Amino acid sequence: MFKKPLFKSTINLLLNKNCNSKTININKSIIRTVTFSTEHDELRKTCNRIIEKDINPFVNEWEAKGMYPAHEVFKKLANAGLFGITRDPEYNGHGLDYSYSVAFFEELANINCGGIATSILVHTDMSLPALVNFGSDELKREFLAPSLSGDYVACVGVSEPSGGSDVAALRSYARRDGDDLIINGSKMWITNGAQADFMCMLVNTSHGPVHRNKSLVIVPLKSPGVTVARKIDKIGLRSSDTAEIFFDNVRVPYRYIIGEEGQGFMYQMMQFQDERLCVSINAVSMMFRVIQETIDYCRQRMTFDQPLINNQYIHFRLAELQSDVECLKSLNYRAADEMMNGENVTYLASIAKLKAGRLSREVIDSCLQYFGGMGFTEDLLVGRAYRDNRALSIAGGTDEIMLGIISNLMGILPKKPRKADEKLANKS
Ligand SMILES: Cc1cc2nc3c(=O)[nH]c(=O)nc-3n(C[C@H](O)[C@H](O)[C@H](O)COP(=O)(O)OP(=O)(O)OC[C@H]3O[C@@H](n4cnc5c(N)ncnc54)[C@H](O)[C@@H]3O)c2cc1C
Repeated sequence: MFKKPLFKSTINLLLNKNCNSKTININKSIIRTVTFSTEHDELRKTCNRIIEKDINPFVNEWEAKGMYPAHEVFKKLANAGLFGITRDPEYNGHGLDYSYSVAFFEELANINCGGIATSILVHTDMSLPALVNFGSDELKREFLAPSLSGDYVACVGVSEPSGGSDVAALRSYARRDGDDLIINGSKMWITNGAQADFMCMLVNTSHGPVHRNKSLVIVPLKSPGVTVARKIDKIGLRSSDTAEIFFDNVRVPYRYIIGEEGQGFMYQMMQFQDERLCVSINAVSMMFRVIQETIDYCRQRMTFDQPLINNQYIHFRLAELQSDVECLKSLNYRAADEMMNGENVTYLASIAKLKAGRLSREVIDSCLQYFGGMGFTEDLLVGRAYRDNRALSIAGGTDEIMLGIISNLMGILPKKPRKADEKLANKS
């Protein structure tokens, strides 16, 4: 059992000073990082014990099935104190700081596939942050507490069949009916969607301006009118189920809106920062793992009477990849430290997510090459990582969307033409 809380979480997005600023100071003079202690080592050991005993022995079977038992695995992680690391003990959290989450994200890379870590992170750090930061006490008791005890599986519903990048253009609509909301629409690409107990759903709740007409609503997925239409057949992340879900006159209490009605777009943009940083931290550990496995293989594999690793072309390339991953690790730690101090991490988390996607593609592709034919089999981690990590440049905001955010924060993103200017341009 991992040791219980020592001190209160310092994460408080509500205190975020830079939250509403359009551009941010990108020339900081003080650069800080995350440090670890023996308590973090304890957490790492606990996590790895579960991975070795309760997860890795079954990964091949779950990958083949295209599904893993999320409730069962979540319960084991939660019972060991690994869920709700930074969350309030009032709701089954442990009140630790974000550095412990960093250690957790890193150890999840020891799972022999990307799908299960993705599913866990969708639950802990992609579906719950808005509820944690803006939800009422009542809503937290009803949905956060059982999520942190491992009884509920959560998912997050932003993307729709009509598009995922342009979040403001989503179409699902929730109409008020007395004390209830009635929801119609659909969500696409929902990780955990086939197993989740509830969705943190971004939905239009009025016809106002697109950035102020949305709310994040907790939608129990056993509600009448919810249909999990299909489990999508993906090329990677096979163990994690990804679903398309329809909502046909689904009735939920109005009080299931997280925080204020109309603030959902803003809350989701903030929630995305947690998502982007945790995937980058996890990806770095997976890249180090793949590089190490490549080194081990190239040490013992003989070609032309010498180990592969002795070829300068190969050991120089591996050294270069290792160097690039170290750079991203430093950036992640800098962002994690800022997160821990309640600062706005949009700039660093967007860069981290962009680089994690691109670097994963480069590192894993290069490493796969040095395995020769073995790299192209289902038997080794590198082949699975090659397929799984491709999603990093797509899910949670594509590379192009990250570049848009970074350009915007640099003040170089051209403004959209106003409707009146467009009409004039079309006339001329
Ligand atoms: C494995 C996986 C799991 C996922 N899990 C979830 C989940 O749990 N919840 C959820 O809500 N969503 C989830 N998604 C959806 C994901 O967030 C979207 O796929 C992503 O945001 C892109 O949306 P799209 O697929 O509709 O592509 P589109 O928005 O149609 O974009 C297509 C391409 O066009 C590019 N593009 C779009 N606009 C521009 C522009 N202005 N300039 C340049 N290029 C542009 C995009 O970058 C992309 O490359 C998941 C996706 C995958 C693959």
